[in-house]
Order: sequence, then C-alpha cells, then structure tokens
Amino acid sequence: MDLKNFQQIQIAYDLIRSGLRIPLVSSLSGIDNKRLLRGFWHEIHGNGPVPGKLPESVVSYIDDFYSAIQVASFVGFYQRIYKWDKVSPEKVARITMDVSTLLKTHEQYAVMWGQPLDINAGYYAIRDVACEIVLFVKCINCGAEFLYDQSKMHTSKCPYCKTLYLN
Ligand SMILES: [Zn+2]
Repeated sequence: MDLKNFQQIQIAYDLIRSGLRIPLVSSLSGIDNKRLLRGFWHEIHGNGPVPGKLPESVVSYIDDFYSAIQVASFVGFYQRIYKWDKVSPEKVARITMDVSTLLKTHEQYAVMWGQPLDINAGYYAIRDVACEIVLFVKCINCGAEFLYDQSKMHTSKCPYCKTLYLN
C-alpha cells in the first residue's frame, strides 16, 4: 500500500466514524470499493450502514427554526475554521468542501452545542452553500447569518428573529 492509499483509507475511516453516509465517504475519500467501506462501517459502528436514498439538499434537514439555527451554526464554524487553516480571510471569496475542515467543524460543533449535528446535514449545508444551491445570507434585522432557500417557510425567514429575507 502506498502513502496515497493510506491517506485515503484514513480519510474514509474518520468520515465513517463521524457517521457520514457511504456514498459521500466514497466520493470524498476517492475509494470506490463500497464493500471495503461497508466493512469499515461494520467494524466501527457494529451494525450495517444506513440504507436508502440520499437527500437532494440540506433543506431536507431543516424542519423548524431550531434545525435552521443548527445548520447555520455549523456553516459559521466551518467558515471560521476554513479561514484559519487555509488562507487569509480576505482571500476567501467563497468556501469549498474540505474534508479536514468538515471533520474539525463536526468536532467543534459538538463541543459548543454539547451534542453533535448529524454530519450528513453538515456536509449538505457546506456543499449547498459552496455550490450556491442555497445562499448563506445575513439578516437585515439582527445581522445573524443563515441558510436561505425560498422553498420552505423555515429557510425563507431568519431563524433567530423571524424577519423575512428579501432577495
Ligand atoms: Zn434576524
């Protein structure tokens, strides 16, 4: 096994331990062998990975203002860690998906909130903000940042002060 393989396996292992779904682990680690990944899942969690369809976007994880605040908080942590680790703040025009930042954010979130956020929700939040499938906007009333998507009631208002966001 060469170093690149070893690094890929380490990434996959860490992502699986954090609970990320197998197809997402496969794409982030570059390991196509789903059987190997499912084996890791079994070894770490003692049961089989979650079957079923992946959600289309982070909006699937937002059912109320509380979950909207949770994903907004995750994106906020991610942005800060990404800037600290990667580049100077002025160079970051927009965020991109970065595995080590995702894992650190997941850990920091759990420390700050006292419990982890489902890393799959965190993954989709980062991906969708990075691809501009949803917007990460600032509330005109209270200044808090949140994920804006006009399709749902809980993503079209600021989850903190409930002010409607007008695009
Ligand atoms: Zn607000």
